[in-house]
Amino acid sequence: MSGAAGLPDPEFQEVADGVFAFVQPDGGWCLNNAGLLVSDGQAALIDTAATENRARLLGAAVRSVTETVPRTVVNTHFHGDHSFGNFVFAEDAVIVAHEACRNEMAVAGLGLQGLWPEVEWGEVTIALPSLTYRTELTLHVGELTARLSHPGPAHTVTDTVVWIPERSVLFTGDIVMNGTTPFCLMGSVSGSLRTIERLRSYGARTVVTGHGPVAGPEVFDTTEAYLRWLRRLAADGVRAGLSPLELAREADLGEFAGLLDSERLVANLHRAYAEERGAPPGAELDVAGIFAEMVEHHGALPLCRA
Ligand SMILES: [Zn+2]
Repeated sequence: MSGAAGLPDPEFQEVADGVFAFVQPDGGWCLNNAGLLVSDGQAALIDTAATENRARLLGAAVRSVTETVPRTVVNTHFHGDHSFGNFVFAEDAVIVAHEACRNEMAVAGLGLQGLWPEVEWGEVTIALPSLTYRTELTLHVGELTARLSHPGPAHTVTDTVVWIPERSVLFTGDIVMNGTTPFCLMGSVSGSLRTIERLRSYGARTVVTGHGPVAGPEVFDTTEAYLRWLRRLAADGVRAGLSPLELAREADLGEFAGLLDSERLVANLHRAYAEERGAPPGAELDVAGIFAEMVEHHGALPLCRA
């Protein structure tokens, strides 16, 4: 699948001793990152990939650095780009996620595929987590410790972040993305802001975000600035009586214009409006209807090059 859709191949980088990032350019829709921990004859994956092809590429990348078979897969959240590839590893691995993430994954099923019917998804079957936790869970992978924690509603309502203290590496899932527009339609704006503060407090040297190149802690700044801008914009929009779609049409993206998938603004505004009007973080919204508005704003189905 080399050079699929005109994009560079995924990169497999060792970001610290025994800690790898599987980075899929260009980080746009469904082109997520995954991680691998290897130590002392043990291995664990953090997330998989959207399509069968890409999950098998991840498998090949793992075998290129270790003969050790991953016995654990952690899902940072239920979105299909991070979890559809679970089935490629499920025969050997226990799949771990937040307890409510398991249910979200079951309910969502393969629904994401319906949004982009042109993508070659392969023969994906949903492999649900078989081990779940509520607030924190520690995995021991050889000498490495992987501290899983659930920060409350952020990118979704059941996110997991993974902190590797011995290597000062933090895997954020999609709570943070690098070079890509944040997306909190299924989570919370205020919760994301609170979570980012908490993520900063880890003091990580290396941050592997859910999409886009490996970064340092400076990557929190853009996400935080976008979310604060979004909140101000939404407050003005509510006061002016504009719908999220109307507001998105006239909004000046300014410093955020260079982020991929800018059409997410419409969806993010829906979430920000809900919170502005007093809805609790993560309250249910009409995701399908809002996705349709995002397509309308973009003028076409956004490109998914998974
Ligand atoms: Zn996601």
